[in-house]
Amino acid sequence: MASTERTVFRTCPLCEATCGLEITVVGDTVTRIRGDRNDVFSKGFICPKGSTLKQLHEDPNRIRTPLVKRNGEFVPVSWDEAWVEVDKGLSGVIARHGRGSVGAYVGNPNAHNLSPLIYNRVWLQALGSKQRFSASSVDQLPKQISSGYLFGTAASVAVPDIDRTHYILMLGANPYESNGSLCTAPDFPGRLEALRERGGKVVVVDPRRSKTAEHADEWIAIRPNGDALFLAALANAILATGRADVGDRLRAHVDGIEEVSRALAPFTPESVERATGIEASVIRRLANELLDAESACVYGRIGTCTVSFGTTASWLVDVVNAVTGNLDSPGGVMFPLPAAGNPTTRGEKGRGKGFRIGRGHSRVRKFPEALGEYPAAVMAEEILTEGEGQIRAMVTVAGNPVLSTPNSEQLDEAFEQLEFMVAVDIYINETTR
Ligand code: SF4
Repeated sequence: MASTERTVFRTCPLCEATCGLEITVVGDTVTRIRGDRNDVFSKGFICPKGSTLKQLHEDPNRIRTPLVKRNGEFVPVSWDEAWVEVDKGLSGVIARHGRGSVGAYVGNPNAHNLSPLIYNRVWLQALGSKQRFSASSVDQLPKQISSGYLFGTAASVAVPDIDRTHYILMLGANPYESNGSLCTAPDFPGRLEALRERGGKVVVVDPRRSKTAEHADEWIAIRPNGDALFLAALANAILATGRADVGDRLRAHVDGIEEVSRALAPFTPESVERATGIEASVIRRLANELLDAESACVYGRIGTCTVSFGTTASWLVDVVNAVTGNLDSPGGVMFPLPAAGNPTTRGEKGRGKGFRIGRGHSRVRKFPEALGEYPAAVMAEEILTEGEGQIRAMVTVAGNPVLSTPNSEQLDEAFEQLEFMVAVDIYINETTR
């Protein structure tokens, strides 16, 4: 009997835009994937990655059974056999060296997939080790830390209201390629084009003429590492106009503007010209454009996080948004209110434990803990440096840190020396091999 055709609806798990998918299936075979036009968020948009999920699903190289390494070769085993190996391996390392000798790394896909969002916390707590690492420390922790100190939780990141704004100034972001990051927006390019069609302006500050820069109204080339200085000067210029105003609604919730003004006083547009490569007159013009726009927002992404003073730059993004009256304001930057699972939707406003980092320090170079983890950049030294607390086993979930984190050759060498490793992944890659 011929299999009947059916349509199933899913969300794309490949990035945080989480586009809605309409998938046609005959029997067990995917015959078509297209954007779900009724998805309230993505409205039918998918990028080339989403439309080729069929190829990923059918890829013969995708791992379909658990694999255990025996005599240097991966051997397919049943799930029962795999769990016995995991139990034996991890229990052995813990018995010999303690729980702190097991490290854990979770990769980027964990942030946009329901299963790890639910279960990672459970197994990490059961593991009982503080040696935790993730992809966040490679690209976004500065923004989360500045948001934590400003707004009380590291998940309270204010994102551009791109569908209503009249002006967007972007630093270190290339949404024409990425579709946005820490600002989930399927078809980010289409939304920017809509902004321009309604008379708005897109300004990109980036050392590189990125695809987004090419499509912007204005591209301003900044010297690499100049973000914090540029933003400090921009805030300085706004405050110097005498027009800075957080707005009536926010006034009761904001303090420290005078202190910020004093702290930024030395950072005049002229003083940063050389370091940023941006003329003072341009910074002053941008300050006035932000103030004059009916609504405006500054959006800083990975480029503002992977520079020196990344946390300061991330904080300054919100300082500029606040003093131009665009923080938590329509068309400015706003706080998402997901239906569940986010601190911005829970608890009583203005109450809570507050935010702090440094509740522990990495063993070798004493870097502070942030959001319950240490920088991925110290993972290799924590494995290679002998002594109490040395990492002897690793669990990785949906991550390829040997390819994606700094000093990957050292990490590759470190992973070779582990007594035991468990990897949860759909491919054998540079890390899981
Ligand atoms: S932008 Fe592409 S990869 Fe990201 S969720 Fe949408 S379809 Fe998937």
